Amino acid sequence: MTAPMSAAPATRATGPGPAPSGEDLVHVEKLRMYFPVRQGILQRRVGWVRAVDDISFGVKRGETLGLVGESGCGKSTAGRAILQLYKPTGGSVTFDGTDLTKLGVTELRHRRREMQIVFQDPYASLNSRLTVGSIVAEPLEIHHIGSGRERQQRVNELLELVGLDRSMASRFPHEFSGGQRQRVGIARAIALNPQFIVCDEPISALDVSIQAQVVNLLQDLQERLGLTYLFIAHDLSVVRHISDRVAVMYLGKIVEITTRQLLYDRPLHPYTMALLSAVPIPDPVVERQRRRMILTGDVPSPVNPPSGCRFHTRCPFAQELCRTDEPPLAEVETSHRVACHFWSEINAAGGTRSLPVMPETGAAVASSPYQDEDEGEGMTDEERMSLKGDSPMRDPLIGGTPISGETGSRDDVGLSESLDVPQKPA
Ligand code: SF4
Repeated sequence: MTAPMSAAPATRATGPGPAPSGEDLVHVEKLRMYFPVRQGILQRRVGWVRAVDDISFGVKRGETLGLVGESGCGKSTAGRAILQLYKPTGGSVTFDGTDLTKLGVTELRHRRREMQIVFQDPYASLNSRLTVGSIVAEPLEIHHIGSGRERQQRVNELLELVGLDRSMASRFPHEFSGGQRQRVGIARAIALNPQFIVCDEPISALDVSIQAQVVNLLQDLQERLGLTYLFIAHDLSVVRHISDRVAVMYLGKIVEITTRQLLYDRPLHPYTMALLSAVPIPDPVVERQRRRMILTGDVPSPVNPPSGCRFHTRCPFAQELCRTDEPPLAEVETSHRVACHFWSEINAAGGTRSLPVMPETGAAVASSPYQDEDEGEGMTDEERMSLKGDSPMRDPLIGGTPISGETGSRDDVGLSESLDVPQKPA
């Protein structure tokens, strides 16, 4: 059983992560991001939301690493903790050889020129009181780059680079469509010539017809400017299109990470199988043969996550060992890491094809034998809100602390100090 809510969260180490590779621009090691849960008039801490719990991975120079998972799994929080927009509770984030978690405010601000973010909601992340020209020029002003005329020239260049006309610099965000606003957000993100950009669900708020244009723009900019992306999304089709490698997150943990090809052709973790089984295939013959795997039960609460494997309350292949022992994220073949005790047996038995099928729907029945035994509570709306990537917003679980400031603020472009989220005592 899990610890009571009032207990300090124990670190559940999953063994050493992948060794840093010389090709890694960003290397994350045992990263944890916990938020205190407060209650009552005195706002006493009664528990912790373990939004990100001991994750390790690297992002190679020039690649796109997709980070996928259900809403509330902690993927946006992980992106922000990597950029130090949240001060991580534990672990390290090495960027181009420097551990960001050990930097002071001034050094961190300097390094942030090389790391930027594109937010999910292009309307909320742009200051409606500023012209587009001022919004794109703001990072240059903050870092005292260029004279007024040079900044103006740079803004014109950036607008054209993202497919907007330079005459649009004098307009306000409300005069643009959603796709154009996201182009402005991208222009702001590349204004300082960063090496690394966290794309936090950059197309989720856009019409389907516009999504492809923004994805193509991001790919084009990556090629031209040599950018490295962490692409956070829950749309697996988009992630497949843009990513070189993909990491799958569930309840604050990475459960599988591998190349795009291996993940989509041969997923080894039951959760990945369930996610991929939900993606329609644009080939009627293959689509007819697709075996859908419907997971039953809610995503458990990250305040009180299940013991052992966090997926065991929803995994149809769960066994007793899964309730007690957390599986390490182990390398099971070249460039393929999986956190499952029984990945080999499950795949030898045929994966989702070994599950019984409901005749009414043709989908596989996928209930866990432990569904009702352990931590039956699903995530509350508040917990979901606190882990969503929308920006700006207020986090009800951290005492109303603004987590991204006013729209278009310096926090939005990742230029101010880390947010002072109360941290777990050492
Ligand atoms: Fe987790 Fe066990 Fe299911 Fe593997 S088989 S995903 S370890 S619950």
